[in-house]
Amino acid sequence: MPEETQDVETFAFQAEIAQLMSLIINTFYSNKEIFLRELISNASDALDKIRYESLTDPSKLEAQKDLSIRIIPDTENKTLTLIDTGIGMTKADLINNLGTIAKSGTKAFMEALQAGADISMIGQFGVGFYSAYLVADRVTVTSKHNDDEQYTWESSAGGSFTIRVDNSEPLGRGTKIVLHLKEDQNEYCDERKIKEVIKKHSQFIGYPIKLLVQKEREKEVSDDEADEADDKKEKKEGDIEDVGEDEDADKEGGDKKKKKKTIKEKYTEDEELNKTKPIWMRNPDEISEEEYGEFYKSLTNDWEDHLAVRHFSVEGQLEFRALLFIPKRAPFDLFENKKQKNNIKLYVRRVFIMDNCEDLIPDYLNFIRGVVDSEDLPLNISREMLQQNKILKVIRKNLVKKCIEMFETVAEKKDLYKKFYEQFSKNIKLGIHEDSQNRKKLADLLRYYTSASGDETCSIKDYVGRMKDNQKHIYFITGESREAVANSAFVERVKKRGFEVIYMIEPIDEYCIQQLKEYDGKQLVSVTKEGLELPEDEDEKKKFEEDKKKYENLCKIMKDILDKKVEKVIVSNRLVSSPCCIVTSQYGWSANMERIMKAQALRDSSTMGYMAAKKHLEINPDHPIVDQLRAKAEVDKNDKSVKDLVHLLFETSLLCSGFNLEEPGQHAGRIYRMIKLGLGIDDDGSDSVEMTEDVPPPLEGAAEDAARMEEVD
Ligand code: ADP
Ligand code: MG
Repeated sequence: MPEETQDVETFAFQAEIAQLMSLIINTFYSNKEIFLRELISNASDALDKIRYESLTDPSKLEAQKDLSIRIIPDTENKTLTLIDTGIGMTKADLINNLGTIAKSGTKAFMEALQAGADISMIGQFGVGFYSAYLVADRVTVTSKHNDDEQYTWESSAGGSFTIRVDNSEPLGRGTKIVLHLKEDQNEYCDERKIKEVIKKHSQFIGYPIKLLVQKEREKEVSDDEADEADDKKEKKEGDIEDVGEDEDADKEGGDKKKKKKTIKEKYTEDEELNKTKPIWMRNPDEISEEEYGEFYKSLTNDWEDHLAVRHFSVEGQLEFRALLFIPKRAPFDLFENKKQKNNIKLYVRRVFIMDNCEDLIPDYLNFIRGVVDSEDLPLNISREMLQQNKILKVIRKNLVKKCIEMFETVAEKKDLYKKFYEQFSKNIKLGIHEDSQNRKKLADLLRYYTSASGDETCSIKDYVGRMKDNQKHIYFITGESREAVANSAFVERVKKRGFEVIYMIEPIDEYCIQQLKEYDGKQLVSVTKEGLELPEDEDEKKKFEEDKKKYENLCKIMKDILDKKVEKVIVSNRLVSSPCCIVTSQYGWSANMERIMKAQALRDSSTMGYMAAKKHLEINPDHPIVDQLRAKAEVDKNDKSVKDLVHLLFETSLLCSGFNLEEPGQHAGRIYRMIKLGLGIDDDGSDSVEMTEDVPPPLEGAAEDAARMEEVD
């Protein structure tokens, strides 16, 4: 039809989508049936959307009042058709949603596949539609949205799709997807197979799924009609089957003009496949783990069962039921900011309201999946009204409480909790940062390695249980890795005194600890910050006072040399085998925080200045290097080598304390010169070529070793 071809527009798939489609078509994969789950899930989403819109504007349903999904197999034409009466897609929707707009999940899914993921995981990555190409080599999507004409999208993959106005049978509203099945996929026209797949993957869909089934019934017809039917049968096979003459009728009514015959007549009928009552309305005692698992999977598109579930109802001034799940894994985009929150479905008296109600659960619990069904909210509630709604606030509070209870139950099983914690510890820590009301309970859920915990992690409660009689505080250190903090100078002294130190080695610990100031009435104290006081006996106190006096002068000299690089230089009682360390002030950033902040590309560079760690250099009075330095400085505080050694000590401490060097080249230069000194090589200035490229060139005319080392600063 020339007219129509004129109206056909062709579009190229977005590159990654094209790649994904050819992957789906060409990968050998046997579990193809999941395509049906994906398409039904999209239909159900579309129905959710129109139902939600109709709550505030009932006229939106006018074009099509029935809300359901129909499945029509056609053995003759080898097609499988799905029709939903959902929101439908406009022309622009078809172009954008089915092919031209890039989604982060496309690439993520292909990467996951390469890493051994299974194709059935497709739904979680937001590209489930393309699973249609597991079984079909051509797909047409006809759709009617209230705001546009009816259009048809079509593609046989190969990098492009077409869009045309559709003048065939009007849908009213909704979407019809026709799958032209691949040669070897005819089983998806088979009723039994379809029923089986739907029972397995889609039994909990909240709208009727109706399968067009072939039936037979007996029908009495007069002989003539039967003969006529016989004639028809010859022309068109399969419609009516002759079951032979009715013998009774033959004998008794032999004189009747017309004989009666019973024939079998074939007809079609819609059969509803998912008649079960919503699972959350049922009695928890009568629901098996398997059923919860099936429901969870149908709710989330997850391919694995949940890790834990909580099914409860709340009664009293307010009434609701809820079913909450913890997944086994965090979604790939858990902390992506622009991610649409799509985790708890809100129902009001069994009617689906919305699935991205942000006010239902706090951000830190955004990994919890489930449903909430309220008896009290009005049906036509809008998103804006929900924000203010008191009922919703109470529901939210209850949900948080139940979630934490669920975590506590999981925590009773060590192995299970380990799995949970690996995936969601960040959320717990975020919760401690954000949720002051539940901070205490959440703190009990934390697990850390400590200087005494060995290869197992422990709770802060365990730590407190092991505290020494004279220990007032809970000691912790933050840093980049377990090894780095375990070997740090800060931990040395505390450990030597027999106290335990908690190792906090995740970036988010820094945020968490800003809010978690105490536990069980005991202050949490960073061993890397100024003012760390360890319990001491009288002798120790006396010695410390003497040390402070003895090194007072050295501290002053060192501060003069280092100038603005440090806030102050003081004598330490926290060091054992290191000569010095850098501690940070109570309120500034720790070394670890400075590292994290520097790594954040979008940080506000102005905060860097005033929040950047305020560094205090602490020196170890019992260390021979420090003692020798004191002796040398007392002889001549302007000695060039004293200055150089002080810089070296400072820079080395920075590194050991977890900071980065601002100018690593200068440090390297100093080290090389020390090495030369050690090897007895004369430095005549010709060595600069050997230095790494970030070392600044030697200054002209600087003949003396020490002088030049000094000038470089
Ligand atoms: P997801 O469902 O995770 O968004 P899909 O690849 O399954 O990803 O679907 C892509 C988009 O196409 C959907 O978000 C939706 O906007 C649109 N879509 C797919 N199927 C339908 C449908 N039956 N009715 C309306 N829109 C649909
Ligand atoms: Mg989908």
